[in-house]
Amino acid sequence: MIVAVASGKGGTGKTTVAASLSWVWDRPVTAVDLDVEEPNLHLFLKPEITGRKTAIMEVPVADESKCTYCRACADLCQFKAISVLGSVLLTFPEMCHGCGGCIAVCPEKALSSGGRELGEVLWGQSDGRIGFVMGRLRVGEAMSPPLMRAVTATLAELSPAAQADVVIDAPPGTSCPAINAVLPSDLILLVTEPTPFGYHDFRLAHEAFRPLQKPMAAVINRAGLGERSIYDYCRNMNIPILAEIPFDRRIAEAYSHGSIVAVALPEMKSVFAGVIARLRALAATETAQEETIHA
Ligand code: SF4
Ligand code: SF4
Repeated sequence: MIVAVASGKGGTGKTTVAASLSWVWDRPVTAVDLDVEEPNLHLFLKPEITGRKTAIMEVPVADESKCTYCRACADLCQFKAISVLGSVLLTFPEMCHGCGGCIAVCPEKALSSGGRELGEVLWGQSDGRIGFVMGRLRVGEAMSPPLMRAVTATLAELSPAAQADVVIDAPPGTSCPAINAVLPSDLILLVTEPTPFGYHDFRLAHEAFRPLQKPMAAVINRAGLGERSIYDYCRNMNIPILAEIPFDRRIAEAYSHGSIVAVALPEMKSVFAGVIARLRALAATETAQEETIHA
């Protein structure tokens, strides 16, 4: 089972939930931090890093002496990362998505593949039992999806046991990186808080992820703040609320010390174990429904 822990906005407690779920997971599990712009799952899980590699994206390098300025490359590029102005060929590596299309269509072989460093991928183990993989975007780099793909490719290269169950810490929001992060998941767990902002961004995230047709569930963090809109929305949209994490000073203190909530507050361990059990039940229901459809 692959669970993506996501949120419509930052600061809802998404990483807190991902860390606690990974910690109490009762089978082999790998925690994957795909929030590559601001990874911080490692601050909670404190993994021993056993490997790292630089993630490179292939971008075109031009040999203008061979170029006939035919524009085939510029016409193909969806991202305006290569253009021809009269008899000048311009490349913009920072806008390139690394598809390789321009290199393939160039009739003069004037373009070859060069590398642009995206960041690094690190992996290891936490507590000697939780697999761990993360990406860290290079400072100044804007293109996070290719690095996220490098992280998931690294996960695929690890042992099959590491891939059996996976908890993904997804980037917050509803933009391209957030969608990319939840794509490999079987279920999406949305973490929110009962405030007008939490409700607003939860709705945006739910609407953004709904076309993916994956089961979604919610965890309400800082429960007890008094706002009921999020509860009404979940009821109307048939989104199960798997747990409520109370608005409790001890949880805020655990967070500020980089402690895992399920460790710092032992009574929370059963709350997260309950979330895992209900996620499994949701995944099983989804599988049964798919089998019925295809029978
Ligand atoms: S496709 Fe090749 S030859 Fe044509 S403009 Fe681009 S680099 Fe030059
Ligand atoms: S590799 Fe793809 S995205 Fe990059 S410049 Fe070429 S066509 Fe554009």
